[in-house]
Amino acid sequence: MAAAPTTLVTGIGELTTNDDERGRMRDAALVLEGERIAWVGAAADAPDADARVDVEGRAVLPGWVDSHTHLVFAGDRTAEFEARMAGAAYAAGGIAATVEATRAASDEALAATIDRLADEMLRGGTTAFETKTGYGLTVEDEARSAALAGRRADAVTYLGAHLVPPDWRGGAETYVDLVVGDMLDAVAPHVEAIDVFCERGAFDEPQSRRVLEAGRERGLALRVHGNQLGPGPGVRLAVELGAASVDHVAFLDDEEVAMLADSWQGGTGTVATVLPACDLSTRMPLAPARRLLDAGAVIAIATNCNPGTSYTTSMAFCVATAVLQMGLTIEEAVRAATLGGAIALGRDGEAPADGAEPARLPLGRIRPGARADLQVLEAPSITHLAYRPGVPLTRGVWRAGERML
Ligand SMILES: [Zn+2]
Repeated sequence: MAAAPTTLVTGIGELTTNDDERGRMRDAALVLEGERIAWVGAAADAPDADARVDVEGRAVLPGWVDSHTHLVFAGDRTAEFEARMAGAAYAAGGIAATVEATRAASDEALAATIDRLADEMLRGGTTAFETKTGYGLTVEDEARSAALAGRRADAVTYLGAHLVPPDWRGGAETYVDLVVGDMLDAVAPHVEAIDVFCERGAFDEPQSRRVLEAGRERGLALRVHGNQLGPGPGVRLAVELGAASVDHVAFLDDEEVAMLADSWQGGTGTVATVLPACDLSTRMPLAPARRLLDAGAVIAIATNCNPGTSYTTSMAFCVATAVLQMGLTIEEAVRAATLGGAIALGRDGEAPADGAEPARLPLGRIRPGARADLQVLEAPSITHLAYRPGVPLTRGVWRAGERML
């Protein structure tokens, strides 16, 4: 097998590696080989390569890993947003409008929306993302949502338990029967995780437990939308069942914060994913990211991009909000938006041996063996992400070794 072509990226003023050995480096260089990072070190020690790119003192960091999005949808909820900004409260039922539009849309229309948003993410520095089903809510529409999502997403999650569909005639229990029965059968081949909206107005604790246990039996990773609109059982259930992540986590008592931290005692725990753009867009309290980190929990920052409650793909906006309003340092926020997302997706591991599938290469760190997912900022330091909020600073992007921007 011929060796993959190598590219030396040099002139890196500041390199954020998320690698405990290397940390944040000054005057660094790195070498990309095919889809992977092959070498990281001081610019002065850089080896030769087939090609060379000088980033002239700019900051380089891992591409964003957006571990929570809902991109398979149709329709528009501008009016609902406008009403909310005029004082109306958010309730879980807003999802129903998107369900109706999504079912009526063609595969081509849904795929075009996914492509448009995924392209927007790349331009903003996001090089890996998860997305969910959840606006189909019939066997056929959930299966096609999952298949369409898999064309672009790095990870697809089944969210048949998003809401009891408004036209469902049998009540919540019989809908859950479908979610864990025929619908799961149809969707399982296309997904790696299962999720449930465990909230007042969506699914209660016993129903959520049934959904998660059914997914676990199929070998799917577990995720929970929990504690978003008020206190609830989502976080406890997620930790009890060993979920990979519990997302939203805006309403947490001290015991729940400790539970999330303690979940990491034995190795793999439950990531607490905070969604700052969603908190702002629903005018809800910001999730207590500072408290979670201080307690020793592992957090991720994600966009929750969806047409109802968080219609942004901008991880940079989420990072700036986490620093300016949630009390994180820039380094903590960047780590949560890159490595944190990778951990939530189970993609933070060691590099597999040569010849392993590029689609399974580890994400979120810049070190040899990791997938070559990088972004170059139009700035000398990651600090500018919060120091210059709202300014599009992403200047260069590599995804799996391929230059995208
Ligand atoms: Zn969500």
